[in-house]
Parts: sequence; structure tokens; C-alpha cells
Amino acid sequence: MLPNKCPGCLEPVWFWNKVEETEDKGYSIAKGALGAALLGPAGAIAGVGGKKNKSITYACPHCGYRITAKE
Ligand SMILES: [Zn+2]
Repeated sequence: MLPNKCPGCLEPVWFWNKVEETEDKGYSIAKGALGAALLGPAGAIAGVGGKKNKSITYACPHCGYRITAKE
């Protein structure tokens, strides 16, 4: 959830400006590599099934302070 007050300028924020949307795919790839190192090919396959994390970055309309929220 987004705060209704900006942590940067402490002004109330009714509408955060959406800046960008990113899908974090690096997490599962790293996990797969780690799994491969520990468990061999079976571990690498386990990492592929990792769920994607989507992060959305919002900016304060007053000062431009950015916060990232997970969807
Ligand atoms: Zn602000």
C-alpha cells in the first residue's frame, strides 16, 4: 500500500505519479544458479519456477520523492 503522506517532504499525497513498472526476473535466475551449484541440474530447474516480482515505482507530485511498491 502507498502511504498517504510523502516520507520525503511530509506533504499529504492523494495521487502518486506512476513512474515505472519493473519485473524482477533476476531473483529467480540467481536462485537457479545457486540451486545448480548446490544440487546440480535439478536445482537449476527449481529456480526457473520461481515467481516473478513486479515492482512499481511512484513519485511524489510535490518533491519527486520516489517509492517502490510491490504489486
Ligand atoms: Zn514529497
